[in-house]
Amino acid sequence: MRRITGLAAAGAATMAVAVVSLFLSRVLTVQETGTSAKGVEAVITDTISSRQIPVQLRPQLPSASAPPAVFPTAAASPIPNATSPQPACGNPDALGVSRVVEIDTTGGPGFGFEQFKAYDFLRDREVVLTFDDGPWPGNTQAVLKALADQCTKAVFFPIGKHAMWHPEILKQVAAAGHAVGSHTWSHADLSKLTVEQAKEEFEKGASAVRAALGTSETSFFRFPGLRNPPEMLTYLGTRNIGIFSTDMDSFDFKIRKPEQVVASVMTRLKKRGKGIVLLHDFQHPTSLALPELLAQLKAEGYKIVHVRSKDSLTTLPEYDEAIMKEFGPGTVSTRSIANVVRTVSE
Ligand SMILES: [Zn+2]
Repeated sequence: MRRITGLAAAGAATMAVAVVSLFLSRVLTVQETGTSAKGVEAVITDTISSRQIPVQLRPQLPSASAPPAVFPTAAASPIPNATSPQPACGNPDALGVSRVVEIDTTGGPGFGFEQFKAYDFLRDREVVLTFDDGPWPGNTQAVLKALADQCTKAVFFPIGKHAMWHPEILKQVAAAGHAVGSHTWSHADLSKLTVEQAKEEFEKGASAVRAALGTSETSFFRFPGLRNPPEMLTYLGTRNIGIFSTDMDSFDFKIRKPEQVVASVMTRLKKRGKGIVLLHDFQHPTSLALPELLAQLKAEGYKIVHVRSKDSLTTLPEYDEAIMKEFGPGTVSTRSIANVVRTVSE
């Protein structure tokens, strides 16, 4: 009996070592390069295997067809265009980026504890900022300006139609070094569509981001309203898309006062200590709130983690064609405006 127990214990120990080794080999390769606020300070490569877990539904966010009440004009401060080099951080007290995490999206891993609990990759006081539903004139540029002033980075999940309407703004997002995923074509609730319709919503959204940017971008996706039918989780697994839920929803789309957006995020962060934060660059109060929110994150000792995908998304040609047909030729271009229109006298 003792011998059998001993063998079992030895077997369990071997299994444990094997599991830990497997975890380490897939999850972390670390290159630490210091800690200043001058941008990317540490590079961590997370090579993450696929695994899906059951998910729960939550209330749907407002449709993209309901625009915010106020659309300001473009931000007064200059915003780098797609051809601008990345400026060095001129703010010595900037929030910055504490480390960069690279995700291997093979098999469609999910992130954000509201729905996916397999990969708890953030350390205490680490924050990932994410912005949904853009690009939108004025609001998105204001968000970019606030992030640039703090030399920090975020992940954006634009709506396909918005990307087609405002490709120049999405180009500014990518040019500033942020990760750009996708968020469907028209912000449809995929749980209410057939599987084929839901696939089309995803694919057209991804193709729209590619069309707007002129290049394939981050292989990340967020479901509108965080409503993710199981069939779509399976499908996105076959497409190797990293799925982002959230650790804390700011509910900024319901808030009209910027100071309440700040309080919403800071209160939730204090409770959890870290997390992927869901915000909306589409929302005007959020765009106004961001400078103060970033200042408070810095003051409270939170650190920003920039997340990007190891491989870029490969769109499907039939949907690339479908969105161009729907929008018509000449709607979006891979050429920057500076290469097409030039002031020759003034
Ligand atoms: Zn959304």
